[in-house]
Amino acid sequence: SEKLLDVRNLHVSFDTYGGRVHAVRGVNLSIEKGETLAIVGESGCGKSVTAQSIMRLIAEPPGKILSGEILFKGENMLSYSQKKMRSIRGREISMIFQDPMTSLNPTLTIGDQLTEGLIRHQKLSQKEAGKRALSMLDLVGISNAKERLKQFPHQFSGGMRQRIMIAMALMCDPEILIADEPTTALDVTIQAQILDLFKDIQKKMGVAIIMITHDLGVVAQLADRIQVMYAGKVVEEGNRRDLFYQAQHPYTRGLLHSVPRMDADRHVPLVPIAGTPPDLFSPPTGCAFADRCEYAMDVCTEYDPARVEANTQHYVACWLQDARARQAFGDEELPM
Ligand code: SF4
Ligand code: MG
Repeated sequence: SEKLLDVRNLHVSFDTYGGRVHAVRGVNLSIEKGETLAIVGESGCGKSVTAQSIMRLIAEPPGKILSGEILFKGENMLSYSQKKMRSIRGREISMIFQDPMTSLNPTLTIGDQLTEGLIRHQKLSQKEAGKRALSMLDLVGISNAKERLKQFPHQFSGGMRQRIMIAMALMCDPEILIADEPTTALDVTIQAQILDLFKDIQKKMGVAIIMITHDLGVVAQLADRIQVMYAGKVVEEGNRRDLFYQAQHPYTRGLLHSVPRMDADRHVPLVPIAGTPPDLFSPPTGCAFADRCEYAMDVCTEYDPARVEANTQHYVACWLQDARARQAFGDEELPM
């Protein structure tokens, strides 16, 4: 089936006082209609930068999309003007962020904020836009919608504000919804409700969702397919089943050991993987995980591991996939 979005070999950097940070180093990503793709990794792995690049929300300078293609329905959006991108954002691809308060205007009513885009860009009448806002608030589970439209952001709880952001993102019926850590700022009970809402929305609207998160609990509930990122690269990619039961990359396996329990009153904090990611001012030669990897071999610090298909549609970038690693370690000791 046809890819809705197809990101190829994306490289993104940022110039800082300390030098140039190579934040995204050759990311490939694609999504089909109605699919949910989760991008998982620790903070600083490049997952948010990847999403912002798709939306062309990277400030240039200091940011720079060095190379790659971002094909939306077959057209490279990197060749679009900012004006053309403005017509894509919200209408074709929408994005919501971690903290809804920073994306809502405290001085405008929810109703004005919800309808603004439709009235200005789609030339809908106040009345038509208002009707759409009502049905969207309804969809995201905000009751008493007519009254609520007249209220301001501070009159809503954090969870309600995130529901409003989701409603806003869906106002123009986009084909892709990108959500960057949409539940991270919320408490655990509310997180679960928002995740249910995402499932519900997908069912009702058929929108494709790119979910960016560091929380594998979120992934387990929502994702059809998962990409694990580390130090600006995708290290493993596969469907939910393969990633949870057949993870091959030592980093993915480390993350899985730190999955918190999903029942609300027994929330177990993440157990971090020992060590820290490399700084991306001067990315290491070879595998960026080598410093933290219990299986690291000489080859790992010399050459980048190639992306290989470990299973149907299940890709891993790790030297342990090479047959010679089996000889070196013996099958018993390897994580597969
Ligand atoms: Fe570990 Fe080497 Fe695989 Fe990197 S390539 S994850 S260092 S075994
Ligand atoms: Mg982030």
